[in-house]
Amino acid sequence: MKKHDTPMLDNLEEGPWPSFISGIKKLRDDHPDDRVNAVNNDLLGQLEHSYETRKGYWKGGTVSVYGYGGGIIPRFSEVGKQFPASKEFHTLRVQPPAGNYYTTDMLRKLADSWEKFGSGLVTFHGQTGNIMFIGATTENTQHFFDEINDYGFDLGGAGPCVRTGMSCVGAGRCEMSNINEHKAHRLLVNNFTDDIHRPALPYKFKFKVSGCPNDCMNSIERADMSVIGTWRDDIKVDQEEFKKYVAKKGRKHVIDNIVTRCPTNAISLNDDDTIVIDNQNCVKCMHCLNVVPKALHPGDDKGATVLIGGKRTLKIGDLMGTVIVPFMKLESEEDWEKLVEIAENTIDFWAENALEHERCGEMIERIGLINYLEGIGIDAEPNMVAHPRESSYVRLDDWDDEAVKWYEKADSKKDTA
Ligand code: SF4
Repeated sequence: MKKHDTPMLDNLEEGPWPSFISGIKKLRDDHPDDRVNAVNNDLLGQLEHSYETRKGYWKGGTVSVYGYGGGIIPRFSEVGKQFPASKEFHTLRVQPPAGNYYTTDMLRKLADSWEKFGSGLVTFHGQTGNIMFIGATTENTQHFFDEINDYGFDLGGAGPCVRTGMSCVGAGRCEMSNINEHKAHRLLVNNFTDDIHRPALPYKFKFKVSGCPNDCMNSIERADMSVIGTWRDDIKVDQEEFKKYVAKKGRKHVIDNIVTRCPTNAISLNDDDTIVIDNQNCVKCMHCLNVVPKALHPGDDKGATVLIGGKRTLKIGDLMGTVIVPFMKLESEEDWEKLVEIAENTIDFWAENALEHERCGEMIERIGLINYLEGIGIDAEPNMVAHPRESSYVRLDDWDDEAVKWYEKADSKKDTA
């Protein structure tokens, strides 16, 4: 195998950061399989050619595996004659386990399968949430899928469909967790398996689940339906631990870094170094809990907030998710069914009413929140606000009558609970 000269790519290895070029060269030079060496050699050759001519040479097409309409990103080279080993270089999107928990044995198995059929290049994980297996021929795409499918992995979404879900690391490794994140993830995604594999929706639809308002999955910004764990009783305080923290850091540090940084001024410090939290005014920003995790914990009455409509750029610009369920318990089977029902109703309504290439949040902006809520059968209530403690999304003329109704409803829920 004659190695391509790559002076421009070599340059990219000189900076302080690890370079993807070094990774590809390692597969070209050190991998025991000649096929993997050749694929990576031609990949480097095409990339250098692209840099020289300032043009991209990958074009799309149609590649799929039997029974699926999506999950593969086809890439055919326009300069395949010059670089034949990498002329078909498709990417397979594969769904990771909820919370991204793998055994090392499973990681080895995936890597072995990929080196057998693909280029050896893998991304854990792309911003889509998938494992990205980059670089297979059309024929090997099917072989690789068959092999990993045998030991339990499935393709993710690509195109106008329900996309691969994401959930945070969860209660197994995080003390701030308020819900069973992985159950929520699996229930939602498994319920829409058909909609993942057969793209037939107006555009993409993403689920992301975070166990607490730190929102490690960026679900507010990135998910069409975001489920975030929270609590509605008081923050649990271990005053002895808090006093130890004050003794170690000093009162000034605590006032500067915790008390004055509470966005709603809900915290005060007593003379004996104990903390007082005005829980009615806490907006669950998580700041104080993050600073003193030994002393402060989420309350016991845990549940989830559901938001709809987050997305990045395109058309009308970035949108944050809108709260449509301020708090719901996620414990009994009925609770879980209710969560899935919200997702089903939302996707049905959106599929019927969205324009082509319109995300759910964009549709809500266009038709108005109240119409969407009516469409999915959720009552508007004063807790749905544009900003905490500011304007309601829903105009409530005769608001005092509406407020009475809302409090009556809340009381009757409490009585039946
Ligand atoms: Fe204040 Fe945020 Fe702590 Fe609530 S969680 S008390 S809003 S700092």
